[in-house]
Amino acid sequence: MKGYAGKLLRVNLSNGKVSKEEIPEKMQQEFLGGRGFAVKLLWDEVKKVDPLSEKNKIIFCGGPLTGQAIPNAGKMIIASKSPLTGGYGDGNIGTMASIHLRKAGYDVVVVEGKAPEPSYLMIEDDKVSVLKAQGLWGKNTFEAQDILEEKHGKNVGILVIGPGGENLVRYAVVMSQKGRAGGRPGMGAVMGSKNLKAVVIRGTRTIPNHDDNKVKELAKTGYAEIKAKDSYAFWLRQGTMSLVDWCIENACLPTYNFREGVFEHYQGVNGDMLERIKTGRRGCPMCTMQCGNVVNDSNNMPSELDYENVAMLGPNLGMKNLREVALLNRMADELGLDTISLGSCLGFAMEASEKGLISEKLGWGDFQVAQRLITDIVSGRGVGQIISKGVRAAAEVIGGGSHRWAMHVKGLEISAYNCYACPGMALSYGTCPIGATHKDGWIIAWEISTDRLSYGKEKAERLIELQRVRGAIIECLTICRFPFVEMDYGFHKIPEFMEAVTGNRFDWEDSYKTIGDRVYNLMRAYWVRENNQFNRKWDYPPERWFEEGPSQGKLKDMKLDRGKYDQLLSWYYELRGWDQNGVPSQETLENLGLTNVFQEMKR
Ligand code: SF4
Repeated sequence: MKGYAGKLLRVNLSNGKVSKEEIPEKMQQEFLGGRGFAVKLLWDEVKKVDPLSEKNKIIFCGGPLTGQAIPNAGKMIIASKSPLTGGYGDGNIGTMASIHLRKAGYDVVVVEGKAPEPSYLMIEDDKVSVLKAQGLWGKNTFEAQDILEEKHGKNVGILVIGPGGENLVRYAVVMSQKGRAGGRPGMGAVMGSKNLKAVVIRGTRTIPNHDDNKVKELAKTGYAEIKAKDSYAFWLRQGTMSLVDWCIENACLPTYNFREGVFEHYQGVNGDMLERIKTGRRGCPMCTMQCGNVVNDSNNMPSELDYENVAMLGPNLGMKNLREVALLNRMADELGLDTISLGSCLGFAMEASEKGLISEKLGWGDFQVAQRLITDIVSGRGVGQIISKGVRAAAEVIGGGSHRWAMHVKGLEISAYNCYACPGMALSYGTCPIGATHKDGWIIAWEISTDRLSYGKEKAERLIELQRVRGAIIECLTICRFPFVEMDYGFHKIPEFMEAVTGNRFDWEDSYKTIGDRVYNLMRAYWVRENNQFNRKWDYPPERWFEEGPSQGKLKDMKLDRGKYDQLLSWYYELRGWDQNGVPSQETLENLGLTNVFQEMKR
């Protein structure tokens, strides 16, 4: 189909074999690209393997819109079986590597096996080499980026891991361009387990499309339309950081390991404070809305902030100084750690210390302690070693009922919304296909603006709609969701772009439901096949939200109702065509063209 390179590049690091395969048109039609291609490949090729063994594979996928001259289309998906969760894992990353991947003539790169020594992959159109990572292994992601640019020039796309990935920290990410991160569920650790320090791509071809003039015309009006939005100027000033105040107003800011929903020192870390010290903005390629807010950290080094990393490394740890939060964030970026999981793990350790479950004194808001813990996580020392495997695993080691306030779903740490009084958002965390991320089903704003405390079926219906669009279509096309959800840049633009790019009619109503459900069902089937014990409890949020309410703020003492959550979950399953353990039925799978999936999943 036009718009696709139609090629998959496969590299085996164990034996150096490189091959190029056709991507069947049927797969393009049924799975679109990005997350869709990733789950299809993982389902077919990565079965019942240890995620950190050489049998696992790591997959880099663009979509048909990646690199086309349209707004915010500079992303790719990085996917693998997750060493943090044991299920389907992926993340998107905005990077020049996505554009070079497509210019090099590929939609997908699959890396398998394990290199005998630290290495990196170099892709230059048809020339593919596995090179020694001499002088690179052990370097942080910023240093490695510099070294690789020095060697190969600046006109390349670079994906790199830091010491976090090398040392198999289970929430190590892949970094690019000193600030872009992707692959929360440990995609960096998978690269580390393969001795793969980096992927460097230089593509020199033209990215194919059906009607280039039409694409350019749509792009021109698209960029202009986004910039003309009323909210655009404020977005450029604060980006997602305005959410700190919004979460305070609605008592859902993660504070002291999600124990509270409001933070008494929030004005030290909110959007207004950001504006006072901000020095610039950064973003993904082709972005009109650059949401990376650059500030100088307490060492006077630039660090790129957004709401999630500030909330999780700030209020969630009791940290009240934005420059200090920025330093923790920069450490995470340099070491290649996911800031959300890192903030959750640090908060968990601080609470464990407060409760006397670990002997070390790790005080809330202690900047020195937080810095030391981060280095200990990467070097595998003491408490750092325990929390390097995520809060689910840490709670098993520490015991003492700590699993009740280990803030994760399916092993992935919860991102920055506290849900004592948001059952719909709790369901979103519960059912998201990589574990607890907000990206797929950010229902919380709608929920709070309508009937916050309701457990009505309409919340399950609304959530599924969001997951179809944001979790499936946007991630398959590998474009950024922010123009659509923050600038009200209508989803009806997507069919126009798809038709200009592919030359085929793109029926929005049919596509987002059929393709969206196909991708979601296959991700769910992957969890079920890979985990023999899978049942509905895996779709529950942490015990804390059912057992204890916050001690202050307008939601004081409020908590989720377990029986009502259970009913909401049952409605969700019913609407999805899944059984009461969250397992897709044979009929549901076959109606989506997923033949043989049921039999294999059950086996
Ligand atoms: S809005 Fe932010 S995440 Fe989206 S493309 Fe721009 S910089 Fe990247």
